[in-house]
Amino acid sequence: MNDFQKELVAALRKFCRENIEPHMEHDDHEGKFRMEIFQGLGEYGVAGVTLPTEFGGAGLTYSDYCLILEEIAKYSVPYAVTVSVSGMVQTIIKEFGNKKQQEKFLPKLTSGEEIGAFALSESHSGSDAASLKTTARKTEGGYLLNGTKMWITSGGIAKTYIVMARTGGEGAKGVSAFIVRDGDKGFTFGKAEKKMGWKTSPTRELVFENCFVPDENLLLAEGKGFSVAMGGLDRGRVAIAAIGVGCAQRALDESIKYALTRQQFKQPIFNFQGLQFMLSDMATETEASRLLVQAAARSIDNDATDSKLCSMAKLKATDTAMAVTTDAVQVLGGVGYTSEYPVERFMRDAKVLQIVEGTNQIQRVVIARHLRKENEQHA
Ligand SMILES: Cc1cc2nc3c(=O)[nH]c(=O)nc-3n(C[C@H](O)[C@H](O)[C@H](O)COP(=O)(O)OP(=O)(O)OC[C@H]3O[C@@H](n4cnc5c(N)ncnc54)[C@H](O)[C@@H]3O)c2cc1C
Repeated sequence: MNDFQKELVAALRKFCRENIEPHMEHDDHEGKFRMEIFQGLGEYGVAGVTLPTEFGGAGLTYSDYCLILEEIAKYSVPYAVTVSVSGMVQTIIKEFGNKKQQEKFLPKLTSGEEIGAFALSESHSGSDAASLKTTARKTEGGYLLNGTKMWITSGGIAKTYIVMARTGGEGAKGVSAFIVRDGDKGFTFGKAEKKMGWKTSPTRELVFENCFVPDENLLLAEGKGFSVAMGGLDRGRVAIAAIGVGCAQRALDESIKYALTRQQFKQPIFNFQGLQFMLSDMATETEASRLLVQAAARSIDNDATDSKLCSMAKLKATDTAMAVTTDAVQVLGGVGYTSEYPVERFMRDAKVLQIVEGTNQIQRVVIARHLRKENEQHA
């Protein structure tokens, strides 16, 4: 980290310790999201980290952003996820939106006044996202959306939704992307999912019944929706990877602290080589993940986004988060399995990191596709 990043992270740590940490055990139990925490993060300038200042963003690099997400995730994976999905929506509007759309929707998102959500998945189309069935039929002055989106992060608390719907034939080329707002006629929220983790991050169904979306809310052009969605995903994957690093680091920190103080057989359990090896592996995997995340983030900062590296970072960091949080529960023994210590929460929060933004099997599919392409070129 450079000096600026160290200062940034130290200030954010103070904010998270004072404003997030005290609520997390209670809110995880109650499934409660606090808008004031998100807006507080916004006032801190971390709701629109990478967006240019002309849109109200902080104009920082993707590397800075990953360190910010890592730090928030050490206190709350769900709040880090809320920031990251809203950030992905901002990136999409900045990259693919026209000037009018940028001016209309970005400032409230970058300031943290509002939250953004990304709606691609449906009950029958998860990994095979291009087979989505929600339709957008052309009508005078706009489109009528019909269908249901599943598992949408921040559903119900977000105001601005990027919704992918079918305007053409089968496959990716028939998909278009729209900006839809909470309150638009014909747009309602379906069931709220009951989940293993991410309890403070609402996950809802979005229901569209003849929902009118004006022409001016179409992103880019008809048939470009899948490119829009995929354009956001490379960055989204690195963001989820950074959150995985934060999740793993917190579990590691808790494990070391506990192992140094917990006495068994008249000595700290840290003295036992069996645990030392576990802690060393946890630390090494976490650091390796962080380096991969930073390498992927640098490729984005250099305008040379390396999709293979983005997928590798997501795969490695989220598998590491799962492994390290599971080991943390083991290091803490019986209390690790109870909510007296936060490691069981981080273990539950880690699991879905391996599923969202493309499952880790899909990351391997993407990596293999690159390997084939690179080697066919060299053959
Ligand atoms: C808490 C939560 C939040 C979410 N937030 C959002 C959101 O904000 N926006 C959104 O659009 N979606 C969101 N999702 C949906 C998420 O992106 C999907 O769940 C994910 O893409 C996987 O799709 P699926 O659940 O339909 O699983 P499936 O695609 O049915 O996959 C089931 C299993 O098969 C494997 N599999 C599938 N295809 C292949 C293949 N080709 N090769 C090898 N293995 C394969 C998968 O890896 C997985 O293990 C969220 C999900 C959850 C649980």
